[in-house]
Amino acid sequence: DIIVVGSINMDLVVRVQRHPLPGETLLGSDYQTFPGGKGANQAVAAARAGGSVRMIGCLGSDSFGAQLLEGLLQDGIDTHWIKRVEGPSGVAFIVVNAQGQNSIIVAPGSNYRLLPEDLKAEVFRGAKVILLQLEVPLPTVLEAARRGKEAGTTVILNAAPARSLSADALHDVDLLVVNEFEAGIVLEQKAPQGIEEALAAAQSLRERVSSVVITLGAEGCVWADTSGQGYVPAFQVQPVDTTAAGDAFVGMLASRLAKGEALAPALRWASAAGALATTQEGAQPSLPTEAEVESFLAG
Ligand code: ADP
Repeated sequence: DIIVVGSINMDLVVRVQRHPLPGETLLGSDYQTFPGGKGANQAVAAARAGGSVRMIGCLGSDSFGAQLLEGLLQDGIDTHWIKRVEGPSGVAFIVVNAQGQNSIIVAPGSNYRLLPEDLKAEVFRGAKVILLQLEVPLPTVLEAARRGKEAGTTVILNAAPARSLSADALHDVDLLVVNEFEAGIVLEQKAPQGIEEALAAAQSLRERVSSVVITLGAEGCVWADTSGQGYVPAFQVQPVDTTAAGDAFVGMLASRLAKGEALAPALRWASAAGALATTQEGAQPSLPTEAEVESFLAG
């Protein structure tokens, strides 16, 4: 089983010609809501990738809370341990201009009420992989990692959104997955550019965590672990929307590792999932299934 401890949001998306100035009112169009949040996206990605997934998160008492819960259930995710609290669920306000650039405000809402004491030991029993991101309070993330380690699972941290992390924070993490920008922040240095610099950054991160993957968008990804290091090129596709490529990648990686696959072959599947996610609009709607990735890999 894969346990995801993380955020669940509703994304509220509206299109405008240009971003509004302070005090200004603009008319938008095509308002839409989409289930999102890195935790939920990666849980859905892992479930579609063939994993058996349990989601630990916190939803509010608003109608978004009920809708988001229902969506996770429809993807076959075990929602039994999701906490409900009085008040709003997490939302992201996304404004997209005519050039396709977005500005985003995240109101974490109930996500910030997922506390270390909500993580019961029994939840972690029998799990193969724990998958974490940084959209719920850091003490909760660290407690989940500690519990996961204690239960003998593989603890994966996707350190997004970017923030600096003490060596202590990575103590219970087995595999760190970051993009080049996040790698720079964690290392407190300039973001690596290109494959050579990314491999060097991965080796620096290896001083704090045993396995590292750095994703490089359309360039692919690099990895380093106790067995060595390597580069996995990206698959050539026609991208229409790169939202959630990272989430598709991480979810597929968790699912393959939970099946006992080694890191390098698992990264090939993850790269295919990331590439396929860019060929469709939206976050969760674009997350591919195991069968879709399998036929893509078969060419
Ligand atoms: P994030 O969204 O977290 O920044 P990346 O953009 O690095 O993540 O994407 C994660 C992975 O998805 C990449 O390592 C790559 O394998 C795949 N990917 C992302 N963008 C593309 C693209 N334009 N073409 C092909 N594959 C892509």
